[in-house]
Amino acid sequence: MADIHKGSCLCGAVRFAAAGELRGVVYCHCSQCRKQSGHYYAATNVADDALTVEGGEKITWYEASPYARRGFCSICGSALFWKHNTADEIAVMAGAFEQPSALKEEAHIFVADKGDYYDITDGLPQFARSTPDIKVADD
Ligand SMILES: [Zn+2]
Ligand SMILES: [Zn+2]
Repeated sequence: MADIHKGSCLCGAVRFAAAGELRGVVYCHCSQCRKQSGHYYAATNVADDALTVEGGEKITWYEASPYARRGFCSICGSALFWKHNTADEIAVMAGAFEQPSALKEEAHIFVADKGDYYDITDGLPQFARSTPDIKVADD
């Protein structure tokens, strides 16, 4: 049996399955992620060919920049995906996965842009912008 991790939006119209080991969860504090989520993003990353999506026609893709788009359920509004236009992988929101998720926390990115009403105190690595491994919206 392959290692399959399932998830969905709040209303269940969009369902997905990610095959294989999931990257650690990265928290993104950039202003776009804050605005879209209401706080900050928490996402893992999945290769395009390891992700299967049901109900994909219910996903609205918002082109937040010339580099990347953000996919959310057009019925319930759940943020689900972040997709760099030239990457062959996709960020999938950690909170959308069924429990137990097998996810582990990894790092904070764009901490220079974080909201002014909270502190990051969990001891995870923090990066002013991205980590060396994560492709972001203006690279
Ligand atoms: Zn939904
Ligand atoms: Zn972000």
